[in-house]
Amino acid sequence: MIRHTGLRPIASAWRWQESAACHGADSALFYAPEGEYAFARLQREERARQLCAGCPVREECAEFAMAIGDRHGMWGGTTHRERVAVLRRSRNRASTADQSGTQRPEARR
Ligand code: SF4
Repeated sequence: MIRHTGLRPIASAWRWQESAACHGADSALFYAPEGEYAFARLQREERARQLCAGCPVREECAEFAMAIGDRHGMWGGTTHRERVAVLRRSRNRASTADQSGTQRPEARR
């Protein structure tokens, strides 16, 4: 069964992955194995963060994870929890701007 993600299969949407610093790395660095202990998780996430810190497509990677709603892996040096926090802050800022009468550019049209 094919799951429809709403993403268009065009090369330009995926090309950033060709420059990924993790190309060829073990995916276990980015995804927790079942039953992983908290200390092991912290160590694994720190190793992933170090690799991601030098990655030229870090921003694209994190944005992609937020766009597809990945709930498990490390993307762009962030965990799912951290990405959710970023999205919440962004929504809260937008909501505060709306409530204070400040219109976002797209709302002014
Ligand atoms: S930011 Fe990290 S997970 Fe994303 S492509 Fe770069 S090295 Fe890979």
